[in-house]
Amino acid sequence: MTVPPAATYPPMDVAGRASRLRARFDEVGCDALVVSRLVNTRYLTGFTGSAGVLVVTSDELVLVTDGRYRDQAGEQLAAAGVDGRVEVGQTAAEQQELLVGAVRGISRLGLEAAHVSWATQRRWAGEWFPESELVPTEGMVEGLRQRKDEGELARMAAAAALADAALAAVRPRLAEGPTEAEVALELDTEVRRLGATGASFETIVASGPNGARPHARPGPRRIVEGDLVVVDFGATVEGYRSDMTRTTIVGSPTPVQERMLEVVAASQAAGVAAVRAGTECVDVDRACREVIEEAGWAEAFLHGTGHGVGLDIHEDPRVAKSSTATLEADHVVTVEPGVYLPEHGGVRIEDTIVVTPTGSRPLTHAPKDPHLP
Ligand code: ZN
Ligand code: ZN
Repeated sequence: MTVPPAATYPPMDVAGRASRLRARFDEVGCDALVVSRLVNTRYLTGFTGSAGVLVVTSDELVLVTDGRYRDQAGEQLAAAGVDGRVEVGQTAAEQQELLVGAVRGISRLGLEAAHVSWATQRRWAGEWFPESELVPTEGMVEGLRQRKDEGELARMAAAAALADAALAAVRPRLAEGPTEAEVALELDTEVRRLGATGASFETIVASGPNGARPHARPGPRRIVEGDLVVVDFGATVEGYRSDMTRTTIVGSPTPVQERMLEVVAASQAAGVAAVRAGTECVDVDRACREVIEEAGWAEAFLHGTGHGVGLDIHEDPRVAKSSTATLEADHVVTVEPGVYLPEHGGVRIEDTIVVTPTGSRPLTHAPKDPHLP
């Protein structure tokens, strides 16, 4: 398989996003928002460049960027059907001037508080926008990004399908004694060969004792008979990501390893079964955790149950003990419980799933049988 060409995906409603953002201005008490987080600018405009600041006012979208994106910015906004103005400044001073011009007359100017440095905030308050009251906001665009439209879901499904295919191609190699780093490289190469723009985050291949560290980096360790091997990776298609973990036993499991594999599989299934629009994330976490607690391994489940996925690999909503979020239809989340025991290795199973009114549907489909064929 290869990734379908962009033209075959259903369109994304990029142009409709700014008005949904504006609908939240009153609630947070701002008249405009300065978007400094690039992934949020991408979401609102389709612009994929590595520099730019977007100003969303009640009736305008102004993207200030630099000369490298003179042509690309306008083309990408037009391709996304976004009615916005691109202002290109060759120097930092020119860009400042353009930004100051774009916010002139705005009394309450929202900032993305989690993505503006202290230095920038001081500069904006003191020199750049002294006429405006700066209003710290959090999660304005991220909140909108949680619900995916049909076009976004199609891209994420394609990313997940690529990862499924890449794993199917590479997994038999685990029996041949490769190093973790070699397996990771093969997975990364395979997703790109199949048409992804790249992996969706740094691929994890963690074998034997390394598997007991949930975010181990693939290294020179050779995979040997008796290892549990945790493979956690994904693909990116047009900026949208997938996330999947499968655990393989090379050779025969010990009784403890066998039990770990069974318990985590049951925990993951219980978590997925708990997912439905209207369910609180904390209840999904509890569903996973209960199965692992009953097995006596509460202390060996070292992380939260899952997270939203989209343009970022980790986004809202978080599925964890401390989460206050409620699932809605068309949220995309992972369910990924694990058990980590240094003497035996690690087991984690993760799917990326779409929340529906009555349950969920998986985007990741790779087989979960831990044994190599
Ligand atoms: Zn993952
Ligand atoms: Zn994940």
